[in-house]
Amino acid sequence: MKEYLIKSGSEVDLSKWDPDDKRLCPEGKIEGLKSLLEINHDLEMLQELLYAENKHRVLIILQAMDTAGKDGTIRHVFDGVNPQGVRVASFKQPTAEELAHDYLWRVHKQTPGTGQITIFNRSHYEDVLVVRVHSLVPKEVWSRRYEHINNFERLLADEGTTILKFYLHIDADEQKERLQSRLDEPDKRWKFDPGDLKERALWPKYIKAYEDVLSKTSTPWAPWYIIPANRKWYRNLLVGKIIVETLKGLNMSYPEVSFDPAKITIE
Ligand code: AMP
Ligand code: MG
Repeated sequence: MKEYLIKSGSEVDLSKWDPDDKRLCPEGKIEGLKSLLEINHDLEMLQELLYAENKHRVLIILQAMDTAGKDGTIRHVFDGVNPQGVRVASFKQPTAEELAHDYLWRVHKQTPGTGQITIFNRSHYEDVLVVRVHSLVPKEVWSRRYEHINNFERLLADEGTTILKFYLHIDADEQKERLQSRLDEPDKRWKFDPGDLKERALWPKYIKAYEDVLSKTSTPWAPWYIIPANRKWYRNLLVGKIIVETLKGLNMSYPEVSFDPAKITIE
């Protein structure tokens, strides 16, 4: 999966990343969906192990333009996983109380505890994305945040949190189609937010802001992956695979028990 990993310190130009890419599954959708079933199964077992071992913490960060599929990715990748060990934290416009604190205050509280997986649906990266694009704070303020973020994630990693960050990459044509289908299909209409059109008009500014995020904050302790996301099945498969490979790499084991089961008789 190294193909999709941003090496620390490299400059990202998103126009060079193909949102239609499917090179790890050239056979296509049917094969991709079959593989996702296996991934779902592996993830279910690994999450159980993570919970039982109670040693590691896992943080998964999802960022993307509107309609790129943050919600769909969570739904499909974590299908079947025990809800007790997985939590989703969604970051919306900050409340008055949140705005009265530094921007990481609300984020730190939501990070995973031991044995848990937490998925961030949006994150502290909004504070250098929407906040930058709309000039909600001056440049002197947001431009210092990349360094804070790297240090904050370093703290989490040093204290035992494994961090994976996914940017779901779609293009403007794909977004147009998805917004249109939210208008056309009655059961999707609730998802349509007229405000999304204003954000869409700012597409180039968002891309620039994302390029800076990906260039400045992909670190050895908290790497970014760019996920081609025009095809939903490929997006899900890739995110699932990367999470499974990472969890396997933790070399987890079930905890030793302090008794000899052979010596115990249950009357
Ligand atoms: P959604 O994820 O579609 O429910 O929308 C959540 C909205 O909250 C998006 O428009 C985000 O850009 C916005 N949002 C999230 N975090 C922040 C933040 N720190 N400052 C301003 N807006 C934010
Ligand atoms: Mg929205």
